[in-house]
Amino acid sequence: MLEQGKIDALRAQPVPAFSHLIDGRHVAASNGATMDIISPIDGKVLTTAARGTAADMEAAIAAARAAFEDRRWAGQPPSARKKVLMKWADLIEANALELAVLGVRDNGTEIGMAIKAEPASAAATIRYYAEALDKIYGEIAPTQSDVLGLIHKEPVGVVGAIIPWNFPMMIGAWKLGPALAMGNSVILKPAETASLSLMRMADLALEAGLPPGVLNAVTGEGAVVGEAMGLSMDLDVLVFTGSGGTGRRLMEYSARSNMKRVYLELGGKSPNIVFADAPNLAEAAKVTAAGIFRNAGQVCVAGSRLLVEASIHDEFVAAVTRAAEAMRVGDPLKTDTQIGAVNSEAQLTQNLKFVETAQAEGGQIVTGGTRILQDSGGCYMAPTIVTDVTPEATLAQKEVFGPVLGVTSFRTDDDAVRIANATVYGLAGGVWTSNLGRAHRMVRDVRTGVMHVNTYGGADGTVPLGGVGQSGNGVDKSLHAIEKYINLKTAWIRL
Ligand code: NAD
Repeated sequence: MLEQGKIDALRAQPVPAFSHLIDGRHVAASNGATMDIISPIDGKVLTTAARGTAADMEAAIAAARAAFEDRRWAGQPPSARKKVLMKWADLIEANALELAVLGVRDNGTEIGMAIKAEPASAAATIRYYAEALDKIYGEIAPTQSDVLGLIHKEPVGVVGAIIPWNFPMMIGAWKLGPALAMGNSVILKPAETASLSLMRMADLALEAGLPPGVLNAVTGEGAVVGEAMGLSMDLDVLVFTGSGGTGRRLMEYSARSNMKRVYLELGGKSPNIVFADAPNLAEAAKVTAAGIFRNAGQVCVAGSRLLVEASIHDEFVAAVTRAAEAMRVGDPLKTDTQIGAVNSEAQLTQNLKFVETAQAEGGQIVTGGTRILQDSGGCYMAPTIVTDVTPEATLAQKEVFGPVLGVTSFRTDDDAVRIANATVYGLAGGVWTSNLGRAHRMVRDVRTGVMHVNTYGGADGTVPLGGVGQSGNGVDKSLHAIEKYINLKTAWIRL
């Protein structure tokens, strides 16, 4: 149960300046540079963080490499590694409110969502992989009888993790959990506009007993420290969540440097398909609104395209509009806020531009479309619904990553599938129907990494999340994520 008084007390505390975590020590940028951290709640400077240099990133990678080579972590018995990771999860949980409030002050997510999606989910993820780490074995191949073919599962080495701003702790843990559980060393590169909570979470790992150098974290601009990470000749794996444009660059960096493995979790334009035979249209409307507007639409799997059967179009759009207008937008540190701040001025400007383009292309705004609560100094946008969006329109093709829902109607199942698949993305989708056969056909035919049936969002850590097409490659979450962080090595032994 969230207590407003405790949240208010935490938000009143000044936030100290943040520096890098390299080889177990907090260090400033090599040239002393810092960057202002602006809170999207009120537009004020919250604190500063180190504005990292390429040399800082190289130092962090060198520390991670040294930690990996001397086996100070990978060489510990699995039971010891498990104990450290379990303790880390406990510490994250023990500091959950403090971490969540710090994160919200930095990135603007409403606290009700942040407390669950961020520290609680991060702790659960770390614990999940800690529990798994001594249950993953090598294999013995069925070879001819005079040889023994052993397949070892080895840590890959040094992992770089570039994290976005929407859920830094949760997405950070999706990478850190399996990478550290398998014995790798890691360098984190949090996003410019949401680094604080993840940096604090990294500190807690050291407190839990993770040896220095095994987890390092460098703040700063993507184009500087992120690029230095991508171009490193000494990084073995690069894992990333963020935009397609950056993902493309990371693949280029890899090709131009040491051909490190690159795993990308990118954006989406996820179709939420509502048939007239949905079991409960009123419920579907509420979940549809939450599925695009929570965290101001800054959710990778957000159902940003509503495909609705023509016969119920007007009725259903009216219901989603009512649900959207009933959602309370505002100060993300108030416990009753349902839609917090947009992450930054730049993001808000971009969202509004998308709305302008949608109108120019024939879209009709049913609700929202504007910046609100300007007096606060923060970045707030009314939940926005645009109808008459053609499948070719910009709003149907490009990810906004904001509280903007585009509506397109369809007449047949084939129509729905064709429209759903008519983007370069393939991250998530949903279908609402009482017809079992239709539900399974949609799950089969809509090209995505995850399909929801008669719900939207809310999957837990036991199931994989990953995209197809230009939504990325590889998966986070579940035991399948571990494959990114191990090498298979064959030992062929003559008997
Ligand atoms: P972004 O690509 O701009 O930034 C993500 C990270 O990449 C940040 O840490 C940034 O500093 C870094 N970066 C930027 N330029 C870089 C460069 N040249 N080299 C190396 N690193 C660089 O994306 P964003 O705006 O922070 O995040 C929003 C995007 O992330 C959306 O498109 C969203 O859909 C996607 N996303 C995807 C998932 C998923 O699981 N698939 C989850 C959350 C967000």
